[in-house]
Amino acid sequence: MSISENLATIKSALPKEVTLIVVTKTQSIEKILEVYHANHKQFGENKVQELLAKYEQLPKDIEWHLIGHLQTNKVKYIAPFVHLIHSVDSFGLLKEINKQAKKCNRIINCLLQIYIAKEETKFGLDFKEAEGLIHSKDFSELQNINITGLMGMATNTDNKEQIGNEFHSLSLFFNKIKELASFNLQPEILSMGMSSDYRIAIKEGSNMIRVGSSIFGERS
Ligand SMILES: *Cc1c(COP(=O)(O)O)cnc(C)c1O
Repeated sequence: MSISENLATIKSALPKEVTLIVVTKTQSIEKILEVYHANHKQFGENKVQELLAKYEQLPKDIEWHLIGHLQTNKVKYIAPFVHLIHSVDSFGLLKEINKQAKKCNRIINCLLQIYIAKEETKFGLDFKEAEGLIHSKDFSELQNINITGLMGMATNTDNKEQIGNEFHSLSLFFNKIKELASFNLQPEILSMGMSSDYRIAIKEGSNMIRVGSSIFGERS
């Protein structure tokens, strides 16, 4: 099937409360435009350099999501335009995002990335660290960020039960922090699920999925 057919098939099966972020990493401008012309404008990139290059070359009504690990010294490049940063995994990073957002006269929406996988390779805060961050006085002083939810990645395994359990734990934590809402903590988004596991994620309460290879084909 073509890219636009894959997109249409996936979208037609999604519950209406679930937002699809099309992950464009490693894809050509031409392929991304095929998605754009199918009237989809929410895209995700995992690397700042690639995000910047694509932002420059593509139409300006695209909503860009940064979904991969973000280094503090690169925040300034994306601060003027990024729509949502899914990968906030330290207070230091959040503080820098706040600083750069202020310079741009913006409030930048962010998700806390929570570590739920049983793997050594994934970034993120554990539940305790995330709660500590949210409850800290330093956090309450950040005026130019808004924590609009959480992001998590499950273990890369065929064990559906394990994946479900990992997503379920994040869903429970999401419900817990919703009760702590404040001016800069307004949790509405639960970003979990990619090509291999988004159906499980949606069952467990995800309302934002990040899908690349099911739309573009396997990355080379
Ligand atoms: C690459 C990537 C995805 C999408 O992965 P696919 O398997 O291609 O759907 C989702 N989230 C993050 C953080 C990624 O880096």
